[in-house]
Amino acid sequence: MMPLHTMATLETLQFDNTYSRLPDVFYRRVLPTPLPAPHLVSFNPSAAALIDLGQDEARRPEFPRCFGGDLLPTGADPVAMLYYGHQFGVYAGQLGDGRAILLGEVRNQAGEKWDLHLKGAGLTPFSRDGDGRAVLRSTIREYLCGEAMHGLGIPTTRSLCIVAGEEPVLRETVETGAMLLRMAPTHIRFGSFEAFYYRRQHDHVALLADYVIGQFFPHLAHEADKYARFFGEVAERTARLLAQWQAVGFAHGVMNSDNMSILGLTLDYGPFGFLDEYNPAFICNHSDHQGHYAFQNQPDVGYFNLRCLARALSPFLGQQEAQAALDRYEAVLAAHYEALMREKLGLREAKPDDAALIRDLLELMQAGRVDYTNLFRALGTFRQGPDEANEPLRDWFPDREAFDAWAARYQERLRAEGRRDEERKARMDRVNPQYVLRNYLAQAAIERATQHKDYAEIDRLRELLLDPFTERPGMEAYAAPPPDWGKQIIVSCSS
Ligand code: AMP
Ligand code: MG
Repeated sequence: MMPLHTMATLETLQFDNTYSRLPDVFYRRVLPTPLPAPHLVSFNPSAAALIDLGQDEARRPEFPRCFGGDLLPTGADPVAMLYYGHQFGVYAGQLGDGRAILLGEVRNQAGEKWDLHLKGAGLTPFSRDGDGRAVLRSTIREYLCGEAMHGLGIPTTRSLCIVAGEEPVLRETVETGAMLLRMAPTHIRFGSFEAFYYRRQHDHVALLADYVIGQFFPHLAHEADKYARFFGEVAERTARLLAQWQAVGFAHGVMNSDNMSILGLTLDYGPFGFLDEYNPAFICNHSDHQGHYAFQNQPDVGYFNLRCLARALSPFLGQQEAQAALDRYEAVLAAHYEALMREKLGLREAKPDDAALIRDLLELMQAGRVDYTNLFRALGTFRQGPDEANEPLRDWFPDREAFDAWAARYQERLRAEGRRDEERKARMDRVNPQYVLRNYLAQAAIERATQHKDYAEIDRLRELLLDPFTERPGMEAYAAPPPDWGKQIIVSCSS
């Protein structure tokens, strides 16, 4: 093993590096390349609490050196993880962590284990033509979105901190280099399994599957059909994740199989976007000219990626079992999506024509270019009384008569459930967020950070988005649809 930097801070972290104890075919040992003059951009106490890290630790001078690649926490054992993948539907061969390094796994006092994964940590054996770096702009986007998704109740990697340094990093222009420390129970991806399938090292596929099952699906460890059930559970988690993305109006943007978490977490935030105006053809990634990962395609892409995983597991997974899980993916996704949309509409009971009620509202929203997040939030104010015209709401729609026709069906449906408007609104406000991480909000934080080294907006957004369902006095502007400049932000894979 390589010698490590010595480190005198963060002794409180209890490392238990299960992944780097696996055979070294799964990773390469590598040290972070420090950022010069590292300084702390943002620290997230909410994620820190997950690893029992006190807020005072972030004030220590060693802290930015530690998560800027200069020092290692005692007990770390840094590795770059190997994976292959399918990108934009095409087999891409070997990828691997080209700029992120797993520092190690920390076990908290509750016994839970968290990967400390440092993105932008410098060259690794998997860097290919890349520079191993991340820029402050993309780091802020990933940092904020991880917390925003968590706030929305969607499984995701978490964000501990950002450290920036005096290192120019060339993208379309020269930008500031930075590192993001993100956390998850594991960063293993579908592509981690593909690696050994395509290398024809099937025993390593099994070893990795046994590791993941042992760590994260222990109830399956002694089952005769453990691989089939494992695949089934991954498919189900992925289905639920996709349903949540669709219901909240989130597009990932680069749903390559190497960006698909084996735990069904939202992973690797790049050119993601939340819907502003409802448009199912929304493409959030400006490099995605064909709309491969357009919003409405994402459920199918999830299916495609699961097929990639099934192929990787095929030495131990029968075709029929795989197909049964894939069929279940579609069924679970559809049912979960409908259940989530029903909640967004404040409906409690499932009825046969719910799908039509949801679809017709979305069609009206699309035709009227209505803001997705804000309409659902406002729908909480809908009144079910028979003489109720729902005046302010109908004005959201250019075709008000069409809305009236829909509203009559909705009113009838609500009356049949027989609950008070106020009670329904309270319930709807817990599932329809007031705030989401719209691109222009992130952009404003990015500009203040990159132009003025003013990081206050990052912290403000993080705190706001951790509880996006509660209206905050004085924060009304954060719920506004994008201003004109905010509609034209170019977000691409370049990060
Ligand atoms: P992504 O599109 O961010 O999921 O990255 C796809 C692959 O490209 C992964 O193997 C990354 O590690 C690698 N990669 C992306 N950007 C860089 C970079 N600047 N330097 C090295 N590798 C990179
Ligand atoms: Mg990736």
